[in-house]
Amino acid sequence: MANNYFTICSLFYIITICIAFFIKERINSTETKIYKYIILTNLCTVITAIICFFTIKYYEIIPITNEIVAKTLILLMFTFHVLLTVYIYFISSKNTSKDKKNYTLEIQILLVVYMSCAFLIYLLPLYYHNEGNVIYSYGPSANVTYIMTVIIFIFWIYCLIKDRKNLRNKKYWPFFIFMILSIICVVIQKVYPGILVLTALETFICVIMYFTIENPDLKLITELNIAKDRAEKANSAKTDFLSNMSHEIRTPLNAIVGFSETLSRENVPEEIREEVKDILMASDNLLEIVNGILDISKIEADKLEIINTPYNFNKMIEELVSLTKSRIGDKPIEFIVRKDETIPDYLYGDCSRVKQIILNLLTNAAKYTLEGKITFTISSVVIKNDIIRLIFSVEDTGIGIREDKINKLFNKFERLGVEDEITIEGTGLGLAITKKLLDLMNGKIVVQSTYGEGSKFIAYIDQLIVKDVTEIKSKELNTTVDLNVSFNDKKVLIVDDNELNIKVAKRLLKDYNLNIESVMSGQECIDKIKQGNIYDIIFLDDMMPKMTGKEVIVELKKDASFNIPTIALTANALTGMKEEYLSIGFDGYLAKPIDRNEMLKILKKYVSER
Ligand code: ADP
Repeated sequence: MANNYFTICSLFYIITICIAFFIKERINSTETKIYKYIILTNLCTVITAIICFFTIKYYEIIPITNEIVAKTLILLMFTFHVLLTVYIYFISSKNTSKDKKNYTLEIQILLVVYMSCAFLIYLLPLYYHNEGNVIYSYGPSANVTYIMTVIIFIFWIYCLIKDRKNLRNKKYWPFFIFMILSIICVVIQKVYPGILVLTALETFICVIMYFTIENPDLKLITELNIAKDRAEKANSAKTDFLSNMSHEIRTPLNAIVGFSETLSRENVPEEIREEVKDILMASDNLLEIVNGILDISKIEADKLEIINTPYNFNKMIEELVSLTKSRIGDKPIEFIVRKDETIPDYLYGDCSRVKQIILNLLTNAAKYTLEGKITFTISSVVIKNDIIRLIFSVEDTGIGIREDKINKLFNKFERLGVEDEITIEGTGLGLAITKKLLDLMNGKIVVQSTYGEGSKFIAYIDQLIVKDVTEIKSKELNTTVDLNVSFNDKKVLIVDDNELNIKVAKRLLKDYNLNIESVMSGQECIDKIKQGNIYDIIFLDDMMPKMTGKEVIVELKKDASFNIPTIALTANALTGMKEEYLSIGFDGYLAKPIDRNEMLKILKKYVSER
């Protein structure tokens, strides 16, 4: 029994591993499936090895049984190697190929090789050595396995080389150990052929593999899934909350901005005009905060989209410059603008997002510079025939950023001057959004700053050059804003559940010689149309109780003859809203607080002038 000692110990280990493996529910992955077959094969090998010991020992009693058992043992050992090969091939392919692989061809080849070897093992002769306790088999049948094992090892090395970047993956450990120990075992086996160490080695590998395969606890996975569901629900509740919050804040803001806007145009004393300007600036800041929070929520939900259209680049820069000037206000700051005049007028990209990125850098420069100068440079490189790389640089002589804080700059809600008790308003969201937008546009941003001296932000954005500009130009002509407009008593219907908002809209439309009617619910709007009232345009609020604007338009569109341009008014400026409204049947979209110019553009587009 002496030389069977290792095999008996292996039996104990492999039974323990099998119990440990099968007692728990496992994920049904290819990896665990292969491992299951590996340990079952090893269990069979160990049992067969023990039986084989006795059949060889008592060879004379039933010689045919001995032959079958010994060859089955060889086949089982070979099967073990084949299964390990399948395992290593699967692991290495998983790491090296991006797509999910279909293994049909490989399986067919493997089956043919395996069946041929099995056939040879049973066909070729096997000899037995039986002297005292030194019992083993040898001969051509066993040699088939040895040859195949060498081929298999070469294949393993190929798999390891193929996936060399992941060699530290712990799943490869059993293979390294197996290859090294196999060589040692073969030497031991040659010197002491009676000691059966190969079966024990296989069991040892099974034990190591047990700790290296992906072996997650299914109970834990279920708990994680429940937690994930809860987090998703909480996230969607947060999105709803933000959408409502945006609505709730924008609705009164619409009244504040609308009335201040019209008041600033009235003939009021200079002092009041200045105060109204301050109200407008404060409202702008508040709107920026609401928009920032909405953008961050979109980023977290992976819903921030880039919507590319042709746009007038130079006009955008002019707007940026004038906005920055108003943000600098009366601070003793010189604002220098240097623009590469070779940049084409019309580019293709997401104009509002490009503007948002640069405006954020310029606003920060204006905010964090108390005196000195801000230099805004726009340069470009044509990198392909139709792609231009825009390089925006914003350099200021402001408070600067401490070196150790620069890498935190793009974290959301990170305000770096807090410890210095700097009392400059802000949320710490701007640069986080800027970075994300640049990532989405394949752009880049770099920062250089010296604390106490100033900062320089450089952003790179690639845009397409628009070759055929005639169509955009004609569109632009249609939408140029001329404030002295008069519409020939054209009929406008305003639908909004909020009285104050109706008042604001009426006030904004007052100067244009329009015949304005209003109703406070979707149903009243439908009734008006059904009664045969004709309007030139309808401004329809979306978020109304009982019947939303979306439901109203769907109802109105049921009548094929309904063709009154209908514009969605909404305080809910969440993800891709414009596209959603257009797809439902609205002709246009106006976000609250209503921008006077945007409203006029829409009127000019849909209501013909006198
Ligand atoms: P916010 O300006 O609303 O705080 P940002 O994300 O735009 O948020 O900026 C994050 C922080 O980076 C700011 O709080 C400020 O400390 C610092 N910072 C950004 N731009 C500048 C600048 N031009 N000069 C100095 N500090 C800056």
